[in-house]
Amino acid sequence: MHYNCGLISTIRIAILSKQIEVQFNDLEIEGFKNDKQEIYLDGDEKMDDLTSGSDSDYAKYWIDWFLSTKGNEYFCEVDEEYILDRFNLTGLNSEVQHYVQALDLITDSLEEELDDEMREAVEKSARHLYGLIHARFIITSRGLAKMLEKYKKADFGRCPRVLCHNQPLLPVGLSDQPYTKSVKLYCPRCEDIYNPKSTRHASIDGAYYGSTFPHMLFQVYPHLLPPKSNERYIPKIFGFKIHDIAKQHRWQDQQREEQQRRITVVGEGNVNS
Ligand SMILES: [Zn+2]
Repeated sequence: MHYNCGLISTIRIAILSKQIEVQFNDLEIEGFKNDKQEIYLDGDEKMDDLTSGSDSDYAKYWIDWFLSTKGNEYFCEVDEEYILDRFNLTGLNSEVQHYVQALDLITDSLEEELDDEMREAVEKSARHLYGLIHARFIITSRGLAKMLEKYKKADFGRCPRVLCHNQPLLPVGLSDQPYTKSVKLYCPRCEDIYNPKSTRHASIDGAYYGSTFPHMLFQVYPHLLPPKSNERYIPKIFGFKIHDIAKQHRWQDQQREEQQRRITVVGEGNVNS
């Protein structure tokens, strides 16, 4: 990996993100100073605290900054070689506004001077472009391996269903089209999908993960597919299965109706005689 203008780009990122202050010490970046700042995400979602509060966090490169931003924990780092191979980005230029500048920003090679409004627009486009590249990258063997590591650490959370016994989840999109549906979490044990707990995660575009990813992962790593459990929750009322009680109730109702009908018939017979 080579970065000929990493420092300059970092300064630019800091300027771009206006609210973020970066301290320099003998040309070394100490990290983000403030942990109580606001930045804007796609969809105009406001974020308070920026995660990078500690001095140990370095944000030399745009992708590092992006990944360390709170709410972006579901994303993995897309290999630089993957982004630099234009073949992998085919068609994305028509999907992203300010494509060239956004790509330059992601790869830390944006040289152009931009005014505030344009900088903000390019920053937003860069996040969108990264998401779209991410969706393509995570279904490559390199991307699957990276996401597998995150899955093993349960970075995407665990299934809330009690009988899934803390099964780790995987992100999935319901559509491959951007701006359609937000990301969901797929449980390979109960094969159902769930909303992310945090609103930050719940507002991420599902197209940044795509509808294929978790299923592709288990195609490539079938031995990791968790065993299906036959365990089922059985609803009970006072210890009786609801199904049994319902059956009993139906039988009682039928008997009552039958008796009522007989009484009516007998009564009518008496009147007529
Ligand atoms: Zn589950």
